[in-house]
Amino acid sequence: MSVITRIEITHHRLALDPPFPASWDPTPRTHFPATVVRVHDDAGHVGIGSGDAMYGFADYQRWFLGQDPTDHETLAAMLANVEFHAGRPWPLDVALWDLHGKLAEQPVWALLGGSSGRIRAYASSGVHRPVGEMVAVARRAADLGYPALKVRFGRPALDEDLAVVRAVRDALGERLELMVDCNQGWRMPWDVRPPWDLDRATAVAEALHAESVFWVEEPLHRADYAGMAELRRRVPIRVAGGEMTRERYEFRELLDRQCLDVFQPDCVCTLGITGLAGLAGEVAAAGRVFTPHTWGNGVGLLANVHLTAGTVGAPFIEVPFDPPEWTTARRDYLLTETVEVDGDGWIDAGDRPGLGFDLDEAVLAATQTDAATFS
Ligand SMILES: [Mg+2]
Repeated sequence: MSVITRIEITHHRLALDPPFPASWDPTPRTHFPATVVRVHDDAGHVGIGSGDAMYGFADYQRWFLGQDPTDHETLAAMLANVEFHAGRPWPLDVALWDLHGKLAEQPVWALLGGSSGRIRAYASSGVHRPVGEMVAVARRAADLGYPALKVRFGRPALDEDLAVVRAVRDALGERLELMVDCNQGWRMPWDVRPPWDLDRATAVAEALHAESVFWVEEPLHRADYAGMAELRRRVPIRVAGGEMTRERYEFRELLDRQCLDVFQPDCVCTLGITGLAGLAGEVAAAGRVFTPHTWGNGVGLLANVHLTAGTVGAPFIEVPFDPPEWTTARRDYLLTETVEVDGDGWIDAGDRPGLGFDLDEAVLAATQTDAATFS
């Protein structure tokens, strides 16, 4: 049996010049932070994860040393306890799966019982661009083979947001499925605006349904179970959410109360691969779609691709796409090779053991800092 001997956590920041004007930030981002977690075993194997900053985890590391790294249920249960005390520790679960795959000489999607590591991508934009530029982004995504594009709402006036959807639909027709992220489920620290209420969400959902939008994402606060359920009764468009929802029991409520058509937990932020593999099965059994949020770096993207392709599959999975400010080179700066989508919009986790990537140690050394701070 392999035994965990060491857990290493390092923080990194890539300078962004030009900066990235994310729609959810008050000022453009000048740095892209990342935290890398490495779990070592007694035979010299190393599993790697990345995602949340793991602040405070050092206080709990000792409970993981000496454990079997492939005992995912026990370790994920311990991580759920750590999360209650210290924050989101799920990158370690991802690292444990990477290590398990390397020990078993199998890709993680195969360990999870899947028959393929391939899944289709959707292009997920992150910038509020003028209408003409959004149409250009959409055209580029379609030309690259993406079957779908997600756009962000949140411009000063709702009519401006709707004008973007209508213009993209008019220009691209049925070439692209469209999704809209309203980003009402949670807030950045500075943002104290109240979330939309049910009537506002209903008006938006009706307007999007008229444009044959595939799903409306986070139109209400994550805790507004009654609102989400009522919205689904009012408007036939799919309702998506749950990207930052933390707890297993919250997903149980979302399922039992018929709140969502599309469940979007991200394994580097929520319940790890271990917990989400089970949840994915429950979501699929309930006739719902499971397709994780992945607005992070390439490690997180690959982890969610392995998870989804290895379990229930999805019509498509989120891939951050917003050139020129957001490129695969920026997103995947930790890696020796960027993760790319093929000409038909497919992303392939590949056949290498574990999660199937290598860290670029020179870049990591050059970008190492004390904290994974956004700025
Ligand atoms: Mg989202």
